[in-house]
Amino acid sequence: MKISIIGAGIGGLTTAIALRKYRPDIELEIIEGSPELKAAGAGLALAANAIVAFDHIGVKQQVLAVSNVLEAFRILDAKGRVISQTNNIAINRNLETISNFSVHRADLHRVLLAQIPDVPVLLNRKVWDFRSNGNGEDIRFADSSTTATDYVVAADGIHSIFREKLLPKSKLRYAGYTCWRGITDRLPTNFDQKAASESWGLGKRFGIVPLTDGRIYWFACLNVPKEKDEGCAAMGKKELLETFHGFHAPVSEIIGMTEPDKILWNDILDFAPVERFAFGRVLLLGDAAHATTPNLGQGACQAIEDAAVLGKLLTKHQLPEVAFKAFEQIRKERTRLIVNRSWQLGKVAQLSNPLLAGLRNFAMRLVPESVNERQVKALLDVEF
Ligand SMILES: Cc1cc2nc3c(=O)[nH]c(=O)nc-3n(C[C@H](O)[C@H](O)[C@H](O)COP(=O)(O)OP(=O)(O)OC[C@H]3O[C@@H](n4cnc5c(N)ncnc54)[C@H](O)[C@@H]3O)c2cc1C
Repeated sequence: MKISIIGAGIGGLTTAIALRKYRPDIELEIIEGSPELKAAGAGLALAANAIVAFDHIGVKQQVLAVSNVLEAFRILDAKGRVISQTNNIAINRNLETISNFSVHRADLHRVLLAQIPDVPVLLNRKVWDFRSNGNGEDIRFADSSTTATDYVVAADGIHSIFREKLLPKSKLRYAGYTCWRGITDRLPTNFDQKAASESWGLGKRFGIVPLTDGRIYWFACLNVPKEKDEGCAAMGKKELLETFHGFHAPVSEIIGMTEPDKILWNDILDFAPVERFAFGRVLLLGDAAHATTPNLGQGACQAIEDAAVLGKLLTKHQLPEVAFKAFEQIRKERTRLIVNRSWQLGKVAQLSNPLLAGLRNFAMRLVPESVNERQVKALLDVEF
């Protein structure tokens, strides 16, 4: 029996690790459209539920070896005044977990890939179309070549060709803000390498996430009425410095010390939660099933959870199509909540009206820190 995993992103690679662990009898292959394996994006902030899922599939220590365990997370205003703070050390102690850690995407990819040396990863194989042949799936590639497989796990990301065909009514939606991401190889002076932060201005936000080895991952979100904005496409360091002028230190310094070729630009998109992930012998997983805006830092975490859950279900159900249906049952509600909450949080974080933003900051300063611990607890409440 063969399962073809489409996409060598975090979801696809983690799924291959989970399936290797739980069902070594199943033949696996990963089919990747890009000509080379490269992790698109910069850094990632991951939460307690990701580390629990990595633990289930036996790669927790390997992932932690390239990660920076974060001791604090703060939401600040543009002047650097605290709106909300989370003491991760206390939460980690109380919940016996690692509630927040960061990793460079390329490091995570390398570590995940190293766990599956015996799984073939076929590059430059962009899936163009697929159809059932009664006993499995026929896959057609962009170069018109074809292959056949028994089952497909489509982990082909937010622009999934599988979702497009299986759920034609599900359309991408633009969140109303766009995002630049970067990595620096240097640190500003007196920089706290264990604390991440997000600074909320009016209609713009700047995030700072320290990585390992003296690197920083940063992101900058800006309200822009329409997607694919030509002005944004033309923006470089100079324009970003102008946009975030007036933000507290070390925002300008961090932008300034970033090599221009280490800055990426993407519009922020997701799609409204869908009713189905399982379609007979085909399963949607990761962003292909439930892409979310990045406001909760949960997109990759959910893909990692998906992989661990699917692996476990395949020990309970010998037939993948039965496991796929059970996966849909278990994962639909959890991911729906994340997608919806993240969408709402984005609206709050990107407020551009000074009065509303002031009220928001005032209200958030009143929220006790214990709420943050409850939120981590809720994230840990996963059915594996
Ligand atoms: C700005 C931003 C910041 C984010 N920050 C965080 C964060 O801090 N924490 C977090 O948990 N999540 C974060 N996310 C979300 C996270 O990046 C995604 O949820 C995660 O990468 C999804 O993994 P995936 O494997 O499902 O999809 P992807 O990573 O998109 O991988 C899909 C793979 O499929 C391949 N592919 C696509 N189409 C085809 C095809 N037709 N044929 C063959 N191969 C194909 C692609 O080349 C790619 O390798 C962020 C997202 C954004 C946009």
